[in-house]
Amino acid sequence: MINHENLKNRIQLYSQTTFGSSFEELLDTEKYVVLSKALMENVLPLWTESRNALAGKRRAFYLSSEYLMGRFLTNNLINMGAKEEVEKLLDEMGIEYDSIEESEEDPALGNGGLGRLAACFLDSAATLGYPLDGYGIRYDFGLFKQKIKDKEQVEEADNWTKFGDPWGIRKVKETVLVAFRGSEIRAVPYDYPVIGYGHKMINTLRLWKAESLEEFDFKAFNDQNYDLAVKAKNDAENIAKVLYPNDSYEEGKKLRLKQQYFFVSASLQDIVRRYKKENNSIEGFADKHAIQLNDTHPAVAIPELMRILTKLEGMEWNSAWKIVKNVFGYTNHTLMAEALEQWPVRYYEELIPQIYEIIQRINYMLLEELAGYGITHDQFHKYEIINNGNIRMAWLSIYGSKSVNGVARLHTDLLINQELRDWYRLYPWKFNNKTNGITQRRWLLQSNPELSSLVSELLGGDEWITDLAKLKELERFAWDEAILERFRGIKQLKKSQLAEYIKYTEGVDIDPGSIYDIQIKRLHEYKRQLLNALHIIHLYFRIKEDPELDIHPRTFIFGAKAAPGYIRAKGIIRLINDIKELVNNDPVVSNRIKVVFVQNYRVSYAEKLFPAADVSEQISTAGKEASGTGNMKFMLNGAPTLGTYDGANIEIVEEAGEENNYIFGLRVEDIKAIGDTYDPKEVYNNNPNLKRALDSLVDGTFKDDTGVYREIYNSLLYGADWHRPDNYYVLKDFEEYRLAQEKIDRDYRNSIEWARKCWLNLVNSGKFSSDRTIEEYSREIWSIEKI
Ligand SMILES: *Cc1c(COP(=O)(O)O)cnc(C)c1O
Repeated sequence: MINHENLKNRIQLYSQTTFGSSFEELLDTEKYVVLSKALMENVLPLWTESRNALAGKRRAFYLSSEYLMGRFLTNNLINMGAKEEVEKLLDEMGIEYDSIEESEEDPALGNGGLGRLAACFLDSAATLGYPLDGYGIRYDFGLFKQKIKDKEQVEEADNWTKFGDPWGIRKVKETVLVAFRGSEIRAVPYDYPVIGYGHKMINTLRLWKAESLEEFDFKAFNDQNYDLAVKAKNDAENIAKVLYPNDSYEEGKKLRLKQQYFFVSASLQDIVRRYKKENNSIEGFADKHAIQLNDTHPAVAIPELMRILTKLEGMEWNSAWKIVKNVFGYTNHTLMAEALEQWPVRYYEELIPQIYEIIQRINYMLLEELAGYGITHDQFHKYEIINNGNIRMAWLSIYGSKSVNGVARLHTDLLINQELRDWYRLYPWKFNNKTNGITQRRWLLQSNPELSSLVSELLGGDEWITDLAKLKELERFAWDEAILERFRGIKQLKKSQLAEYIKYTEGVDIDPGSIYDIQIKRLHEYKRQLLNALHIIHLYFRIKEDPELDIHPRTFIFGAKAAPGYIRAKGIIRLINDIKELVNNDPVVSNRIKVVFVQNYRVSYAEKLFPAADVSEQISTAGKEASGTGNMKFMLNGAPTLGTYDGANIEIVEEAGEENNYIFGLRVEDIKAIGDTYDPKEVYNNNPNLKRALDSLVDGTFKDDTGVYREIYNSLLYGADWHRPDNYYVLKDFEEYRLAQEKIDRDYRNSIEWARKCWLNLVNSGKFSSDRTIEEYSREIWSIEKI
């Protein structure tokens, strides 16, 4: 499919014209750029063809302020069906593919699950043949790079394009202008190909870069006013300078609002412009477009489309509103109050007054509608979009969309029955569930080729790559010991590979014969890394008091970034690293348990961790994790879940069987039932194991020069002014968690039984393909068809 001589010639040509020497002499990062650029030529024909095939068709667009794409090169090669060929070709040139692969910067244009979901969705849609394009921001700097120094998180800038950005094509001609009060900014699009597996369709991810209208003020420069000379340029470019590093927390900053309006306005102008090229009237706009809002970050799209339709296209308000309400769908991602976006009215007035006016009118329309339903004035505050000097973005999204969805069954149920109950009463037909998913192309085929081969061999084909439900046919091998042995061998291999990588990146020796117990996700109190940490402290003391304690060796692996301003989260990272020092340097304890904190957890590291896991830690406080997708990646790689009844864990267990997983702890209804009567001090005083572990935070076991451990200790036992004691029920769930861990310790020793559990997780993971999720969105919300 790829002409070898031709590709080789191009590679050499690009090497010379871009870096001034032959390919063989380039740095790995340069080789990556050259190889990718050369491959782009193989991408272009189908990309153009796919675009042309969309003419006149109904299409969907995904608006997301985050895309956590992961490395492009290998994924693109696999989806093009060209990986082996290119590897061979490089081999002929005496060059190793793997080191080129590893030299690619991982573009971290997202925080965590929400951004990664967007990436999985794009992959699934292109693979299935659905016309779904993504729109977002091309941040100059992605999520910070994390290093651990002296046990603490240190953040470094992530200049992800410093060696080039070979998969992005700058389309200056398609620049649009975005107006803020008193200034206009250029939005310049960069297009990235989203190559469907099997290379039948290529969709587009379009990311906007912010640029200034004026390059440079020569007059100011000549007057020796150097700062002023570049001020306009800097102000403009700052908009897309950096991704806000918050996850599950609202960032009420003006620059963040500017980012949102910037990419939303540019995207909508782009969509309308393209539509008008093909059609002479805007009336039919809603028939041809579905636009999905990935959380409320792009919710300003609702008034912005109203602005475009009424002010630029001259439509009547009511006809425009009809279109808007038929175009948008809104995905809610959280039940955490602190993550629900609200914007002070004065920010809107100051930055985008033209939009504020429209929101006021939308709000007025809503109140009239409420009155029409017979809802009395004293109830209006429940619905008002503008309330108490704030604009409630979730309310705006619900009112302006035809569909509102949660991301796992429990999450949607809680939205309907609690958080959004009033809205559900008003518009029950808008509400629906779309349980999240992950793409098996990246999370099995690419990251675990060994297990992929076994699966293909046993299925007698590779249809599972685009139809994950096929895995179910492998259920019968759960009772075939020879197959389970091979499966175990693969897990062992992935564990050895990870041990080698951890040795290289973190300098820690780990034993591939130990249980790999892994918790990798953003650091947040509700995710309860602290529960895991306290349990390790408990084990440490147990082994100290009884060095002969009968436990299977275990390696606890953590990976997590904390928002730089989230002091308690950073304290927990420090605690984990303190525990790591204590445990790993103890000659007795370190033979039984080890602790690893992998630095800079990101997609490319994740690809090495999930395949090597024996235990998947999904221990959030019930009702707090909307879905989770890390849990699905573990399942797909055959690791049982140690988890609470939360998010998609519930559906995972429903598919794979409770007996093949480890479910513990309070459920949503238990938490409701104990209500205000919960007293963590009582739990603490009645559980000596827990008491000993928790006391170590303040008794000198760890040096606490910043006082952060004392603060964590106090927050659990006494609360803080902004929350109750043990707000996330860490202490309450400790004992059940400890018992679940003991059961894992026993069960793991029966290696065939354990392999069977793992196998039953793998073969029952079909539901969690993002292909299934995208099919549901396409059919039930977007009404789009495969091209
Ligand atoms: C999947 C993924 C996440 C989401 O993990 P959760 O456990 O669902 O929070 C976050 N970061 C990266 C890099 C991922 O790959």
